Amino acid sequence: MVLGRNLVRSVQPLVDFVYPPRCPSCGLAIAAQEGLCSDCWSTLDVPPVVEAGEGAVPVYAATCYNETSRKLVLAYKHGGRIALSRLLARLIAARMPMTDSGSAPLLLVPVPLHRCRLWQRGFNQAALLARELERFGKGQAEVAALVRHKRTPNLGGLGRDERERVLRGAIRLDPAYARELKGRHVVLVDDVLTSGATSRACIAAMAQAQPAGIALACFAQVDAGHCLRHP
Ligand SMILES: [Zn+2]
Repeated sequence: MVLGRNLVRSVQPLVDFVYPPRCPSCGLAIAAQEGLCSDCWSTLDVPPVVEAGEGAVPVYAATCYNETSRKLVLAYKHGGRIALSRLLARLIAARMPMTDSGSAPLLLVPVPLHRCRLWQRGFNQAALLARELERFGKGQAEVAALVRHKRTPNLGGLGRDERERVLRGAIRLDPAYARELKGRHVVLVDDVLTSGATSRACIAAMAQAQPAGIALACFAQVDAGHCLRHP
């Protein structure tokens, strides 16, 4: 259910009374429902924007992966704080290029979850971010464009080659979207950008539709500063 702005405003004091706002990172009481305490704000690091270059994929990352951003992602993904999607998306949106009203909107494509994982968690954290980015006017969310066919094990602890092998063929573009992606600028959306193996599998799948360009948007980037190469 989507509440109107006025209704949200009128019930806000009640919400604050029943659920006193707490910093989603450290748990300290804060003044408003959406945001972080000032200490946690000051510990969020912002990585450099990686612009399109010689074969490089531009990366729009809100923060570097550190203790604070890790806690935020955990609260969002596993702690039932789904409403954090708005805060995280707002920080990502601030890193994305200005939207040009004359051109076709960016297509915001989330990294897909396998349906078993989706069923367990109840939501795809990347898809919620893509929808929020759409609300911030950053493009058009296409949350079903990529499909994860194979259930992949947790990739942590696997080497780079092993991750690539596991992910090969696991992620595909839904053929119904091939025509829509062709010639468009596409942004792959995820909460955390880690090894790049998952992103590379998504990029390879989308590249088959011959988009005009592919970029990445994420909340937290591990190993910020590295750049991904087009397949
Ligand atoms: Zn805090």
